[in-house]
Amino acid sequence: MRVLVNAGPWLPVPPHGYGGIENVVATLVPELRRLGVEVVLASVGESTLPADERLSVFGTGQFPQLQRPYNQVCGVVPAHQSAVVRRLDAGDIDLVHDHVEAAGLATLAALGPGAPPGLHTLHWDLAKHPELYGGFDGGARVRVNGVSADQLSHAPEALRAHAVGHVHLATPLATGADRRPARPKDGYVVVLGRINPGKGQDLAARLAHEAGFDLVLAGPVGPYHRPQDLAGADPQNPDVRFWRERVAPHVDGHRVRWAGTVTGADRDDLVAGARAALFPLRWNEPGGTAVVEALALGTPVVGIARGCLPELVEHGRTGLLTTHEEELGDLVRASGAIAEAECRAEAARRFTPAVMAASYRELYERLCARDSRLAVTG
Ligand code: UDP
Repeated sequence: MRVLVNAGPWLPVPPHGYGGIENVVATLVPELRRLGVEVVLASVGESTLPADERLSVFGTGQFPQLQRPYNQVCGVVPAHQSAVVRRLDAGDIDLVHDHVEAAGLATLAALGPGAPPGLHTLHWDLAKHPELYGGFDGGARVRVNGVSADQLSHAPEALRAHAVGHVHLATPLATGADRRPARPKDGYVVVLGRINPGKGQDLAARLAHEAGFDLVLAGPVGPYHRPQDLAGADPQNPDVRFWRERVAPHVDGHRVRWAGTVTGADRDDLVAGARAALFPLRWNEPGGTAVVEALALGTPVVGIARGCLPELVEHGRTGLLTTHEEELGDLVRASGAIAEAECRAEAARRFTPAVMAASYRELYERLCARDSRLAVTG
């Protein structure tokens, strides 16, 4: 089976730093190839992920262009997508697995009946793009999958009619997590993720002072990755405003620290050393890579029971969840009772790249066979 995996023109695969979707592609492709799937990777020239064939229009990731006005950047995605469509003309692609927000789905639907089946993975909040999703019709050839059941349950009916279910996200850290020696815990709690209202860092910071625990925030504020970059930040950026007005007043450098974006081994150390990973969500987190990473690193998850959290975390076994934000401080205190080994074992069982790739390969096979059970509305 030969699959064209479209990672889009925004960032290289794997990304140099932050890059959720590109990280998913980087996690998935090697495992697909191990399963015998040939992968044509559509990305940018600087991507280093091995593939059977690569396709790119742009040499480098175009993400920085997004700071420019729309009329100057609106050609980026069409240029990339045109190359993808041209590649399909050769007739040797069995399926397209697309990860390009909005435009990828529209392109798949616009292809003629002779095109291969397409699977579009929905990585984001499905309240976005209501005109596209609300009236979507991909016929019998285009299908979508979510990254959690909760995410799909909030999708417009037209999109759900094309859904083949969900595939939870994975992390390479989960592979062998049950065999890795435990790392001693320090006393702090970590919140890992983009600093924005949905992820609730303001609540975490307030609770740290009230409930008396040390807190490390890790993640970018909009495009700014280090405290020193924020000095000249665009004050109109909504995440910058959130940081300045709601989070920064609680950040004293002792009880509450902001580490900026932390990546690679430093990130793993930070998460593995925390006594809990806190997710004080105010939105329905669709996929939660940081959640499965915490479990893989043996760190119990404490958070609000919404979005994908109840699917990824078992209350009382791998973490503690509540629907009341004021209870989070008590749950942080109680999280010492969660066994680190349980978290690691759960990650090794459910959230490895091999598990994710096996699910996708099964979906590919069903789509290629034009399986009549494809449409699920649950
Ligand atoms: N991340 C990171 N460094 C940071 C903050 C986050 O490497 O300082 C990574 C995190 O480990 C995870 C990804 O960014 O792999 C965030 O993905 P998630 O699905 O949790 O959230 P999203 O940003 O996609 O909403």
